[in-house]
Amino acid sequence: MDRKKFLQSLAILPIAASAMKLNALESFTDKLPSTEKMPTLFLGHGSPMNAIEENEFVNGFRKAGNEIPKPKAILCVSAHWETKGSFVTAVEHPKTIHDFGGFPQALFDVQYPAPGSPALAKEVKELVKKTEIGLDEKWGLDHGAWSVIKHMYPKADIPVLQLSIDYTQNAQYHYNLAKEIAALRSKGILIVGSGNMVHNLGLVAWDKMQTDNYAYEWADDASKKMKQCILDGNHQSLIDFKSQGKSFDLAIPTPEHYLPLLYVLALKEKNESVSLFNDKAVAGSLSMTSVKIG
Ligand code: ZN
Repeated sequence: MDRKKFLQSLAILPIAASAMKLNALESFTDKLPSTEKMPTLFLGHGSPMNAIEENEFVNGFRKAGNEIPKPKAILCVSAHWETKGSFVTAVEHPKTIHDFGGFPQALFDVQYPAPGSPALAKEVKELVKKTEIGLDEKWGLDHGAWSVIKHMYPKADIPVLQLSIDYTQNAQYHYNLAKEIAALRSKGILIVGSGNMVHNLGLVAWDKMQTDNYAYEWADDASKKMKQCILDGNHQSLIDFKSQGKSFDLAIPTPEHYLPLLYVLALKEKNESVSLFNDKAVAGSLSMTSVKIG
């Protein structure tokens, strides 16, 4: 091949690549009609015990599920799946992962047998162009996903996928990545972030577990500022969480429970409504505050 032909062949490559992407896009959602944009949810999951307890937070999850159209599939970004690189689960039958210790047997007995969807996983991979999304066949559903989704969809009849959190990347990366999967919302896919905005396990006031809405002063301060930013659409301050002062530093000692919030906020379009629910503190250093967009 001479140089000119070689250069011409290079020029054709991007077209071929994008055509391939379009083909891949037809694998799961081509059978689905375009829908009204699905709302997107950030769910404060709190203690794994919420999976088997009856309380106001569980009722909040149920209500959120009942208020929105039944999704065709759920894509969950859980605080409890951190990886080097971003991955999406690509298994037909995701296993229920009991990724905790020291809880009653009843919690270990919980199974959430929702199907997966390797086809949708491939589609997520193809949608994201700025980074490489790996297909994962080892993970299943961790408690960040099943402990909340089981209340919304107890029949476990909707495919659930997880998208991992790349712990090597900064907050802006996660926010930008989420924007690339926004198109899924118009195909009936519910994107859920599961974490906790204020989450400092090292400072939990164990003696105040049963005290309603108990927050340390710093936790209350951080929570109020976060909520104000969410309602004002001031996402940049939330992306720059490391420069928001002492209360944020205490509320977010490690980012994994906070970052799922940024995925959900990134999906917000202009003029979409934002509302809060389960807006309470637990044991001083945790907040259950959850967000519905759309
Ligand atoms: Zn957690």
